[in-house]
Amino acid sequence: MKTLAAELAFFLRGQARQNLKLLILYCTFLLILVLTYSGLFRFLMWQLEGREYSFLTGLYWTVVAMTTLGYGDITFTSEIGYLFSTIVTLSGVVFMLILLPFGMISLFLAPWIEQRLRYRPTVALPEDTQGHILIFGFDAVTRALARKLQNRRIPFVVVTGDHEQSLRLEEEGIRVALGNPTDAQFLRNLRVAAARYVIANLSDPENTNLCLTVRSLCETPIATLVGQLEHGELLRLAGANHAIALKRLLGRYLATRATTRGALAHVLDSFGHLQIAEIPVQATPFAGQTLAEARIRQRTGLAVIGLWERGRFTTPDAATRLSEKALMVLAGTREQLEALEQVTGEEEAEDLILILGHGRIGCAAASFLDRRPVPFILIDKQSSSDCLDHVAVIGDATSPHVLRESGIDQAKGLIVTTNDDSINIFLTLASRHLNPAIRIVARANREENVDQLYAAGADFVISNASVGASILNNVLEGKESIFLTEGINVFRRPLPPNLIGQSIAESRIRPLTGCSIVALERENVEEPLVVPPPETILEKGMGLILIGSPEQEENFCRNFRG
Ligand code: AMP
Ligand code: ZN
Repeated sequence: MKTLAAELAFFLRGQARQNLKLLILYCTFLLILVLTYSGLFRFLMWQLEGREYSFLTGLYWTVVAMTTLGYGDITFTSEIGYLFSTIVTLSGVVFMLILLPFGMISLFLAPWIEQRLRYRPTVALPEDTQGHILIFGFDAVTRALARKLQNRRIPFVVVTGDHEQSLRLEEEGIRVALGNPTDAQFLRNLRVAAARYVIANLSDPENTNLCLTVRSLCETPIATLVGQLEHGELLRLAGANHAIALKRLLGRYLATRATTRGALAHVLDSFGHLQIAEIPVQATPFAGQTLAEARIRQRTGLAVIGLWERGRFTTPDAATRLSEKALMVLAGTREQLEALEQVTGEEEAEDLILILGHGRIGCAAASFLDRRPVPFILIDKQSSSDCLDHVAVIGDATSPHVLRESGIDQAKGLIVTTNDDSINIFLTLASRHLNPAIRIVARANREENVDQLYAAGADFVISNASVGASILNNVLEGKESIFLTEGINVFRRPLPPNLIGQSIAESRIRPLTGCSIVALERENVEEPLVVPPPETILEKGMGLILIGSPEQEENFCRNFRG
C-alpha cells in the first residue's frame, strides 16, 4: 500500500504534475465530445427517423460507437445517419484508441520507467570521502537536522534500506546511500571510519546493532536517539557516545514552561559559565513594569536578552513593558540566577497543572513536575501500560466535560501533548475558551502546525522535530547542553579573525546579520562578559555567543567565514 502511494506520488511531482494537468484537460475535451455526440444522436434520430431516445441511451450509443464495439442494437437507417455514425466511430478511433494511450505512454509510463532505469542507488561512497555525517533513519527530526546541515554546508549522507525512500530523497536533492545498516562491508563502503559522526535514528534494537557494528570497525562518534528510556544504558554499552532521550527532554521542556515556580529550574542551556534561562514573567514581581522599572540587571546582574509572547520573539529595550503572559529569556551566571530567585522567592499559590496525553512525552512532563513537586492531573483516553508511576484520568480530553471535571477552571497551567496535532489544536482552543487565564504549553508533532497552535491560543509551542534537530545539531557541534525556542537560537562561534581589534559597533555584526551578541567568552577568564556594550573591543581568542533566528545564523555564517 505504502509502495503504491509512493508510486502515485511520482505523478504529483515536477514534470509529471504538468503532464497530469494536460491529461485532465484532454479528458475534459473527450467528455465534451461524447456529450456533444450524444446530443446530436438524439437530435438526428428524432429529426431523420422519428425515433425518440433518452439521454442515457444517447450516451450508451456514443460510447459503443466511439470504442468501435458496435453492438448494432441501435442503428440509423438514413444516409445522413450512416455518415454521422462513421464520423463518431472514426473520431473515437483517433481520440480514444490512438491519442489517449499514446499520451498515457509518452507522458507517464515512459518517464516513470526511464526514471526507474536511470536510478542507480549509491551503495558506496568515493574513497576520499571524509568528514561526512552518516544519518541512519530519516524522519521529521532528521529531516529538520538535514536542513540545518544543508544550510551550513556540512556534508551528510542519509542511509536507508528502502529503495523507494532512497529514490525519493535523491529526487529532493539529498545524498542517499542504499544498503543494510548493520552490514560491516556496507559501513566500510560508507567510509564510516573517516566520518565525522554517525547519527543512529532507527529503533532501539537496530540502533544497538548499528552501534556494535560501527564499534567493531572504528571509533567514529555515534549519537543515537533513544526510544525507551531504559535502553539508553544499553546503547551506551553498545558504543554510543550520546544516547539522547528526546521524549524525556521534550516532556521536561513542556513542564518547565507550564509552571511558574522557582527561577533556577528554568535554565535551558549553558555555555560554560553562561546560563540561559526562560522564566515566565508571572513567576516574578515584575509584571506590568517596564524593563527600566524592573531593574533586573542592577538587582541581579542578569540580562534580559529576549521576550516571548505567544510565539513572537522580541528583543526588549528599556521601555518594553513586561506582560504577565510573557516569557523572559535571561542570560547570566548561576549566581545571578540565584540572586533572581532571592527577588522572586518561591511561589506560594496553588499551581495545578493539567497534562492532556499520558504518552511518553506527557509521562516525562509528569515525572519532572513530580520532582519539583508541582501538583498535576494527567488525562488520557487510554491507560498506559508503560507507566507504573502515575495514575491518569481515563477520558477523551476533547470532551469539555472531561476538562471541566478535571478542574480546568482552577488549573494554572496546561500541557497539551497528544500525538495528533489536530487534537492538540482543538484542545488548545477549547481550553483557552474554558479558562482564558491558563498558561498553555503545546506540543507540535509536525513543524508546520506550530503557527496554528499559537493561533488557537497556546502561550508556548514546542515542536518535536525542531527540538530534536537542535539537540542533534548541538551534539555535532560538541556542545554539552541545549537551548531551544521555536525559531530562535543562541549559538557559539569563535571570533572571526577579520574582526580582531574592532569594537562591537565597528564589527557591524547586528546590521549585517541581525544577530546580537549575548556574551563574550574570554580566554582564561571564567566569567563571561554578558551583553557587552558596543564599545567593547573584540580580542583574539574570544568566543562569541550570539542570539538570532536560523536565517540570521545563516547570515552570520555567510558574512563571517571563520
Ligand atoms: P505519545 O506520542 O507517546 O506522547 O502519546 C500520546 C498520547 O496521547 C497517547 O497516550 C494517546 O492515548 C493520547 N491521546 C491521543 N488523543 C487523545 C485524546 N483525545 N484525549 C486524551 N488523550 C489522547
Ligand atoms: Zn507516567
